[in-house]
Amino acid sequence: MKFLFRAVLLATVAFSTGCAVSPALPPANTSTTASAAPAPLLLISIDGYRANYFDRGISPTLAMLAQSGVHADAMEPSFPSLTFPNHYTIVTGLRPDHHGIVNNTMTDPVLGKFSLGNREAVADRRWWDEGMPLWETVREHGMKSATMFWPGSESDIQGHHPDYWKPYDGKVTPPQRVEQVLAWLDLPADQRPTFLTLYFDAVDHAGHEYGPDTPQVDQAIRETDAALAQLVDGLKQRKLLDRINIIVVADHGMAAVPQENSILLDKLFAVDDVDTVSLGVLAGFNPKPHGQKEFARIETQLEQPQQHMQCWDKTRVPKRLAYGGNARVPQLLCLADVGWRIATTDALAKRKGKVSLGEHGYDNADPLMRALFIAHGPSFKQGIRVKEFPNVDVYPLMTHLLQVPAAPNDGDYDAVKDMLKP
Ligand SMILES: [Zn+2]
Repeated sequence: MKFLFRAVLLATVAFSTGCAVSPALPPANTSTTASAAPAPLLLISIDGYRANYFDRGISPTLAMLAQSGVHADAMEPSFPSLTFPNHYTIVTGLRPDHHGIVNNTMTDPVLGKFSLGNREAVADRRWWDEGMPLWETVREHGMKSATMFWPGSESDIQGHHPDYWKPYDGKVTPPQRVEQVLAWLDLPADQRPTFLTLYFDAVDHAGHEYGPDTPQVDQAIRETDAALAQLVDGLKQRKLLDRINIIVVADHGMAAVPQENSILLDKLFAVDDVDTVSLGVLAGFNPKPHGQKEFARIETQLEQPQQHMQCWDKTRVPKRLAYGGNARVPQLLCLADVGWRIATTDALAKRKGKVSLGEHGYDNADPLMRALFIAHGPSFKQGIRVKEFPNVDVYPLMTHLLQVPAAPNDGDYDAVKDMLKP
């Protein structure tokens, strides 16, 4: 694990004098320097926007931002390429093994069960406290943050929520989300957030329900781009478009999974003999109480070559996946090959055969898991294309833009600094 202790000296001095109000916006067309207040930073996530969706040519607003900003060939998600782990990675710079949100569905020896639908768990800071989200560092340096949805924002991580935040509600439409962000930017300077997030989920939902190569996904891409067009118009009206740094990311890509591509665990072993933590693309199992002997036998069997999946004891996960060290990672993991899902006959019966036709969570090195990255604003070079990089690097990029010291993280600022103006 690479720890980076990037203290931006000048910024630290500037802020340690007690900057209690949001800094005024810098004049147009100037890049951020350590001596001036940072430009506001808007981090946008389009959940499940695979890197090459861009090439479909139906994202005109993203294309405009890319043309006058920075466009990466792709961004590599962290493993597992799932929503909560990667959103928390983006705002902490930590791999899931290091920030503790190791899956959308997990168990903790002390805290019990976590799942996306469990609002109590999602709001419990003890799940999140292994990481330091960017909004908390921003708060410690006298600036404000606002999250129009982001995993973790519903919890008082390290003791605090963002200054402005909303409990997740899928019924809030993309235009309403954009309006809220613009309203925050309209606040008086002493209340205005310097770091903001904006989250869209329609592309991910359509990808799961219909598969990535469908008109429904194209429609969701168009609708999300229309919301971005509304955002850009709103920023232009406020003469902000050239004074705000915007980073658009996705958490992961999407792969088609044919209806029939299910690996049925009950055909391989007695599933009642283990405690199943998660199914889907990444299945996880723990021993049942007093079931250690049976578990060891099943583990030995599954670690032999399997059709359409690979299984490992958590201590034997390939090093490049950077996964398995956290206490919340189940003892035995099975990862489906791209295009497959791990299920049981019972679980499929409960869903009456209706399964997701698109999935993610696979090996993060797979091209289909590649995510979008576009950046635009006064600090970024204009019209440049950069090579693929891992998503842990977004965090040190953002701390640099906001002139705050980075918490210990797995990212590498040097890998992304060339996208910034000198
Ligand atoms: Zn996602």
